[in-house]
Amino acid sequence: MNLKILILAGILILAGIGIWFSIQTEKIKPEQPKMKALPNISIESKGEEKPEITLISVYDNYQVNPELKTDWGFATVIKTPKELILFDTGGNSEILLSNMEKLGIDPTSIRKVVISHIHGDHLGGLEGFLERNSNVTVFVPSSFPQSIKSMIIQKGAKFIEISAPRKISDFVYTTGELYGPPEEQSLIIDSKRGLVVITGCAHPGIVNIVRRAKELMKRDKVYLVLGGFHRPPISCVKEFRELGVEKVAPSHCTGDSVREAFRKEYKENFIEYGVGKTIEIR
Ligand SMILES: [Zn+2]
Ligand SMILES: [Zn+2]
Repeated sequence: MNLKILILAGILILAGIGIWFSIQTEKIKPEQPKMKALPNISIESKGEEKPEITLISVYDNYQVNPELKTDWGFATVIKTPKELILFDTGGNSEILLSNMEKLGIDPTSIRKVVISHIHGDHLGGLEGFLERNSNVTVFVPSSFPQSIKSMIIQKGAKFIEISAPRKISDFVYTTGELYGPPEEQSLIIDSKRGLVVITGCAHPGIVNIVRRAKELMKRDKVYLVLGGFHRPPISCVKEFRELGVEKVAPSHCTGDSVREAFRKEYKENFIEYGVGKTIEIR
């Protein structure tokens, strides 16, 4: 009898210690930082072979292939060994789909669509594209209004909201939402030749975006920066050199004078990007 009481008392004491201990450990848990710290994204291990990729401009106000239609806006297809990703959709789905057709890109072969930001010249082609191919996941900034998210669902597609940086596909990452205004995400590809940064309009500032990409991927160089640079000051050409950017392909909203300044500085490392242009990174 005494033994049973002893065991019971022992159990009660142990349980008490357990509860006390869990309360203490609860108390010493560090508080979540309130500042937006740089999150860690899981990057493929260094030993893995980096992919060869192809970038194809399917929508731009600059023209490379005269058989394609130009229009104010931006859309680029990213071909990786794994899949095809459409980054932005231009302003008009008819132009987008017709350009894709002329370039021999089947819209139904695309599985992922990334929308950089809410402006019509990047988002406008999405609805019509989804009518053609709804078997996709659309990665949208989390700040997008419910009406756009509902439209994606209504068309039969899925969406993933982006706020923090994350992986989109093998060796393809988003910078996460950065504030412009508006909120905008850019893509980072860890290619065979190095980092490739693709921007829609670069409202958060093209230099900030490149800096962010380098920080996230822990690299001191960038192989290529491509997309709309949003009329930065000419001094950004020098800053690109300091950031270790090897090649540039400014288009869409970069502005003619900035584009020419890049052409002058980068010479053979300046890529004339515009609708119909294909860049193979091998
Ligand atoms: Zn914009
Ligand atoms: Zn734009």
